[in-house]
Amino acid sequence: MQVTIDTKSGFCAGVTGAIRRAENELQQTGQLYCLGDIVHNGQEVQRLEQLGLETIDYDDLRTIHNARVLLRAHGEPPSTYWIAEQNGNTIIDGTCPVVKRLQERIAATYNAHKHDEPRPQIVIFGKRGHAEVIGLQGQTNNTAVIIEHLSEAEQLDYNRPIYLFSQTTKSLDEFNQLVEHIKGKISGLGFQKSNFVYYDTICRSVANRVEQLKAFAREQDLVLFVGGTKSSNAAVLFNHCKQANPNTLFITSPNEVEDKIKSSNLQIFKSSNFKVGICGATSTPLWLMEQVRDKLQDAQRSTLNTKLT
Ligand code: SF4
Repeated sequence: MQVTIDTKSGFCAGVTGAIRRAENELQQTGQLYCLGDIVHNGQEVQRLEQLGLETIDYDDLRTIHNARVLLRAHGEPPSTYWIAEQNGNTIIDGTCPVVKRLQERIAATYNAHKHDEPRPQIVIFGKRGHAEVIGLQGQTNNTAVIIEHLSEAEQLDYNRPIYLFSQTTKSLDEFNQLVEHIKGKISGLGFQKSNFVYYDTICRSVANRVEQLKAFAREQDLVLFVGGTKSSNAAVLFNHCKQANPNTLFITSPNEVEDKIKSSNLQIFKSSNFKVGICGATSTPLWLMEQVRDKLQDAQRSTLNTKLT
């Protein structure tokens, strides 16, 4: 059995930055609040909690005073900063710089056009209720229209100008389809093209990952995809992997390795040429993928020992 960990898998720069900020703070003070899970991976959250991180929600934020509160890479709406400030809390801003720039761009567009007539629509292509999208919508005083799927584009008012942005982790293909759809609607109704301005704000660290991951999956006999059940990025990337290689298993923890492999009925320890690839989502820590690799190698060793005895 040959085991390879995908070098392109693991935390994106934004998540790495937020975790570093948490670690630095915890090293100095030993205590830090984080608004929401710092990353959609239970094991990594647990590791940081052992260092003193405490995950809080919006209700908690309203009741704590004079504390240090980390904002994760997804970013937050302006209201979060006001609430924290009112209670004398200090914000440690872990918002990813890419998300921060997008927030600023949306806020600038909103402020530049909020008094225009006819009133323009700021549209965000993103997942309703996702933390990043809540932060983006907050830049428009919550007036932005959220579109999750192309089919929802029918609800737009094509008599009014449209400014389209995207959540950083949406699919580039779907965004391009949405752009073409809106362009078609506008020209079909005889409106000027200037009525529609769009910005491709998809983060390439995720967009490029799909093709890289599929190429990695195709080279393997078996793929162990390591991810958290709360991560939407993990669900999407797992599905891409599975399409590229049907022998792909979803693993949340090293403890699942043996059972999952047994249930797959693959004789992975029989051939020295059998290739196992380990990969993960943007929320999967490298150390977790390494633990999965170690567990796999332990399982192989114990299988061989059983045969010898
Ligand atoms: S996916 Fe891109 S934009 Fe989102 S946190 Fe990671 S680096 Fe930042």
